Amino acid sequence: TQDVVPQAPEDPLFGLMAAFRRDTSPNKVDLGVGAYRDDNAKPWVLPVVKMAEEKLRKDPQLNHEYLPIAGLADFTSAAAKLILGGDSPAIKENRVASFQTISGTGAVHLGALFLAKFYPRTANQPVYFSAPTWVNHHQIFGNVGLPVQTYPYFSSSTKGLDFTGMIKGIEAAPEGSIILLHACAHNPTGVDPTAEQWKEIAAVIRSKNHFPFFDCAYQGFASGDLKRDAWAVQYFIEQGFELVVAQSFAKNFGLYGERTGCFHYVAAPSGAEASSTATRVASQLAILQRSEISNPPAYGARIASAVLNDPALFAEWEGNLRTMSGRIITMRKALRQNLENMGTPGTWNHITDQIGMFSFTGLTESQVMKLREDHIYLTKNGRISMAGLNTKNIEYFSKCVDKAVRE
Ligand code: PMP
Repeated sequence: TQDVVPQAPEDPLFGLMAAFRRDTSPNKVDLGVGAYRDDNAKPWVLPVVKMAEEKLRKDPQLNHEYLPIAGLADFTSAAAKLILGGDSPAIKENRVASFQTISGTGAVHLGALFLAKFYPRTANQPVYFSAPTWVNHHQIFGNVGLPVQTYPYFSSSTKGLDFTGMIKGIEAAPEGSIILLHACAHNPTGVDPTAEQWKEIAAVIRSKNHFPFFDCAYQGFASGDLKRDAWAVQYFIEQGFELVVAQSFAKNFGLYGERTGCFHYVAAPSGAEASSTATRVASQLAILQRSEISNPPAYGARIASAVLNDPALFAEWEGNLRTMSGRIITMRKALRQNLENMGTPGTWNHITDQIGMFSFTGLTESQVMKLREDHIYLTKNGRISMAGLNTKNIEYFSKCVDKAVRE
């Protein structure tokens, strides 16, 4: 290895964060970070998380033993209900295998690893991602040896969904391909299909016998409504798909460092057979999980479980979610309004049409570099983290965008 390991390029986001930290300007604005910030640009510990921690501290039973290989059962079952629906037929019919993972990344990885080993890829079909997608998807699926391809997704002219391109791309994929879908708040674009469009996406996936892989990193964080953000996943389940879901609790609980997530395999409804499929899948997931992490980390799962299983804490959580999503939506409105008031060249409706943590602004790389001179940090693809904007910096940011676009 000594002579053959090449130097890998630095992760661009981490380079951006380092440059931001070095910047001593009082005006500096960090729009790279994919984590929620409050109106003072500070990390926010959700009040409900503090309450759950208090409850855990008082629990005399609490110890530091290993969790089971599949994780904390109270957590994984509540996590399944949250994303699949409390009265999901899949849960009632025991068609679900749920494994606690190292946050959403670990869930995507466990799913990719499982499919690399067991998914019958007769024609060596690639896995299909939206263009663009979360960059880590390429690495995670590439690392387990699955070939990857993309389907069209983002229209740079409308800065919205290229729906026709998406449908055509999915249709053109070889029969039985794995299609990766973002359940809500698409990263990096912030562009989601409408309910009607989801129905057509489901129909084309069904007609080509494709396999849906949902990545759900923003449930409740996107719209402030947990049910609404789970709509697409639940619609696919109603339609009787066999599918998998990677679920993260990083953003919606503000539990970034605790690595709290879950992977769900859902068998298609086919009588008693379906429940035995889920049991067999679980037995294989257990082997994969054991070889990789033995058992998942306890602390974040205990916090999430305390909230998900307690109606009063759950209601408090919903309020906290509305605080986060509401602040972000307010910033979207303010940014669009400012740019439209200044007559900044271009159209800006996409800022409020897009949803969730990120907005694909349409700013070009050279405009991004001009903003850097004004101490504003965002990735070169023009993606901004909406959470980096607040009532103190929104005017400054709007003016700098206006200037960069006009130059
Ligand atoms: N998928 C997507 C689309 C994401 O945006 C993220 C968060 N950046 C994740 C998965 C996983 O994040 P984490 O591992 O922190 O849960």
